[in-house]
Amino acid sequence: MSEHDVVIIGAGMVGATLANALAQREYRVAIIDTNDPPVVDHSQYDLRVSALGRAAECVFRNLGIWPAVSAHRVSPFRKMVVWDAGSEGAITFDAAEIGEPQLGHIVENSLVVDALHRQLGNYPHADVLWATKVEEITPQRDSVTIGFSGGECTAALVVGADGAGSWVRRHLGIGARGTDYDQRAIVAQVQTERSHEHTAWQRFLATGPLAFLPLADGSCSIVWSCDRPLADELMTLTDEAFIHRLEESFEFRLGKISAIGARKWFPLSRSYVERYIAGRCVLIGDAAHAVHPLAGQGANLGIADAAVLSEVVAGAAHKDIGTRSVLRRYERWRKGENMLMMNAVHGLQRLFQVQLTPIRQLRGLGLRLTDASGPLKQLIIRRAMGLDGDLPELAKCSISIADY
Ligand SMILES: Cc1cc2nc3c(=O)[nH]c(=O)nc-3n(C[C@H](O)[C@H](O)[C@H](O)COP(=O)(O)OP(=O)(O)OC[C@H]3O[C@@H](n4cnc5c(N)ncnc54)[C@H](O)[C@@H]3O)c2cc1C
Repeated sequence: MSEHDVVIIGAGMVGATLANALAQREYRVAIIDTNDPPVVDHSQYDLRVSALGRAAECVFRNLGIWPAVSAHRVSPFRKMVVWDAGSEGAITFDAAEIGEPQLGHIVENSLVVDALHRQLGNYPHADVLWATKVEEITPQRDSVTIGFSGGECTAALVVGADGAGSWVRRHLGIGARGTDYDQRAIVAQVQTERSHEHTAWQRFLATGPLAFLPLADGSCSIVWSCDRPLADELMTLTDEAFIHRLEESFEFRLGKISAIGARKWFPLSRSYVERYIAGRCVLIGDAAHAVHPLAGQGANLGIADAAVLSEVVAGAAHKDIGTRSVLRRYERWRKGENMLMMNAVHGLQRLFQVQLTPIRQLRGLGLRLTDASGPLKQLIIRRAMGLDGDLPELAKCSISIADY
């Protein structure tokens, strides 16, 4: 039976970030994932892309994986333009307003996960078990035993990083609350007539937000969140008919759409757990909190969880890292920050769905006022980029324009 300091269940972006952060500090880590490693196809874009802010970029720089991520099709974006279909309200967030070269980067999820696992391969004390199903987690006084298909191992600490439907969470009996938005996000890559201008565009429709994210080759990745019946209908349309609906819904903001790739959809819900800890086990990433993608925050929050947990574990130096007093520090640090962002995103999701005329007018006014309010807007930009807040050391780095 192998022994580890930490066993992480779930080898996605968040679990693999934590594994790197701990392995870099010489902890013996193992990651277990039910799936096979992600397949990276360098000839075409992954349909799953994420907008990552500065804090996540710093984590990846400090872990030494940013060169591998940025060597591929990473796309910086300088502005974010948001407008409301139900009012005259619009707002532009511009990195220049806070003296930064960009607001963040659009990255392909599979490329990031691949880069994280390649880097992990450099640590002799890190193991990854793909295509392995965890069957039992048994916390004891001094350690936890993890039983999986084909064997078992022990650890001082087990981390559930197994996504929104977390088996670990359910197995540990941690309750989750939330909202099923009854929406789906349709994603696809499109070619537009006009340049995306390194800007993330988002139009709020009554049925949900429609975003065009800029990709490095000049095309855009769309995330069209909409109510389930509409999503079902859109998924059955021919490419031609879908493009027609897309152009109209986006008000031809980037001109006509000349090409579209495959479409895929994802269910959308919000969920959060009552507590992050049970026994010698702790939850991070979507396993602890899943948010609507309208503000592009889910992965950013999870990467921050991973950075904080690694710092808390390292700070426990000669203590038992699986004890409640150590893990409580992580929970106290992250729960408030995550709830704040979750509530803000949920509030926006709800606000833009209201179609009552007075609310629409107020919403439009609010957007225009925020757009004109220098300091408030700067605060929002800094928070969304991960420049403000209680940041762990791993999420801090100094970057100059010459670094890009
Ligand atoms: C359409 C869409 C767009 C988004 N855009 C953005 C964005 O722009 N910016 C942003 O920050 N976030 C975005 N998000 C959110 C982001 O994708 C998630 O927050 C992030 O992927 C969560 O990472 P995770 O590692 O916690 O979970 P996951 O990515 O779900 O990874 C979980 C891992 O656990 C494994 N697993 C599952 N069950 C088990 C089990 N029982 N045992 C072992 N392993 C298991 C899975 O195989 C997987 O590898 C978006 C989400 C969607 C749906």
